[in-house]
Amino acid sequence: MQEISLDQIDASKYDVIIAGAGAGGLLTALALSAEGKEVLVIEKSARVGGVWHGYSVDGYRVDMGLHVITRVTRGAFVRFLNNYLSPPPEFILHDGWEFRVHDRTGNIPSSLGETLRWPLTGWRGRLGLMKIGAKIKTMKLEEMKKYKDISFLEFMQSRGATNQVMLDVMQSAIYMAAGVPISEASAYEALRTLKDTDKESSKLGSIKRLLLGSSEYDEGYVIGGMEGLIKRVVETINGDYVLNAPVEKIHEHDGKVTGLTVAGRDLSHSRIVSNIPLWSMDKIVQSDGQESREFFEKWCNMDPTHGITLWLGLDKVVIGDRKNRVLVHPNPNRWIVSISSFDPSSAPEGKELVAIAMMTEPGKSVDENIAIMKGNGFEKYYKELLDHVEMEHVQTSYATRAKLIPGQTDLDRPGPHTPIKGLYIVGTDTAGSGVGLQQAANSAEGLVNVLLNVDSE
Ligand SMILES: Cc1cc2nc3c(=O)[nH]c(=O)nc-3n(C[C@H](O)[C@H](O)[C@H](O)COP(=O)(O)OP(=O)(O)OC[C@H]3O[C@@H](n4cnc5c(N)ncnc54)[C@H](O)[C@@H]3O)c2cc1C
Repeated sequence: MQEISLDQIDASKYDVIIAGAGAGGLLTALALSAEGKEVLVIEKSARVGGVWHGYSVDGYRVDMGLHVITRVTRGAFVRFLNNYLSPPPEFILHDGWEFRVHDRTGNIPSSLGETLRWPLTGWRGRLGLMKIGAKIKTMKLEEMKKYKDISFLEFMQSRGATNQVMLDVMQSAIYMAAGVPISEASAYEALRTLKDTDKESSKLGSIKRLLLGSSEYDEGYVIGGMEGLIKRVVETINGDYVLNAPVEKIHEHDGKVTGLTVAGRDLSHSRIVSNIPLWSMDKIVQSDGQESREFFEKWCNMDPTHGITLWLGLDKVVIGDRKNRVLVHPNPNRWIVSISSFDPSSAPEGKELVAIAMMTEPGKSVDENIAIMKGNGFEKYYKELLDHVEMEHVQTSYATRAKLIPGQTDLDRPGPHTPIKGLYIVGTDTAGSGVGLQQAANSAEGLVNVLLNVDSE
């Protein structure tokens, strides 16, 4: 993709104009350009990627956020990369989860046998976990949909699954995905996260998984980090992009999109994809139609997730393995991952890059959030990390534009169509199952299918 300036744009040259160069916008551009479409991407900031981003700090290569990508062997995100990048990027899978509940550690049991030996509870808790675990693993997606408007905690209580350690561990597994505690997370989204599939498996397949478990985790880190990945995506897209170009207005006439205003300049076009967060679209879309006004007013209130990531550059290797550690108690939940164990090039030789992440504690300042991250058991269980810090870097951001709560589940989201003909929406608040990049990729996949079908009509 090549950068052009605003006054070089000849809008009539493009099949599609994409407003916003976040993951949803870029993946859409990647697929459409590979299918022979001329694309123009218009981005308001000085770089592409949105919150999908990476950069260097004092010789360490950090990402925007702790990106352990889910479903790296079978999700939509990796489908885009494998289809369109040559050679496809290399993902390193992690070696498993470790949940710490005070002085005990355990993983998420993946089979009945592991559940019976689970070190985090006594036998009553294990039996309870076995019962509910079997129920979730064999539940059909259709049944899960019935629970989209209740919280996961309500679902568990209705099943008598109230062992506190079990709930605390499930909370940790769901918290980062949903962006909220289990008392607020939609039961449908939580159940899907725990079942870890979007597809139905056969009864035999479910029973086999239940008995034997699954030994490989389908989550991992990409070699080269996010920065390297975005660079490859941008290089592969065959099209143009403009930076520092805020889309101020999107215009409609007689129910059809007619163009946009970018930094004071009007561009005419009849096919526009918006990757702009829905929370600002009600001010951007200029429409006289009641249906479209109501549409954008309704969806501008999506509640985003808020994360904080603390990067620590260590003067020696302290953790050195590819485990996904979660501190459950004392709470709040924090994730601790040694990124340089996946990709040593992210840290100077002989040193280690560790990321710690949690959902931002509401009402607290950044400094207070950092003090919470480094305290509450961290100083007890991971003291050696704190003793070897030579680089410390903090980030705060929304990770996804919609928490997985009732009213905002993927069943509720409005995209990719809008009431305005020719105007489509893409991004983590518009459509798509999964979380983060998977969700952005799912939304882009749905949109690309629609756009390619529209053209073949
Ligand atoms: C802390 C953190 C941790 C994360 N961890 C993971 C993880 O472990 N696994 C995972 O899969 N994902 C993770 N993600 C999530 C993933 O990176 C994001 O969910 C995804 O990149 C969001 O994509 P999006 O399409 O919603 O676009 P966004 O990133 O929201 O991009 C929107 C784009 O539109 C642009 N824009 C806005 N307004 C305008 C305008 N008026 N005109 C023109 N352009 C405009 C913005 O500048 C931006 O570039 C994480 C993200 C963060 C921040």
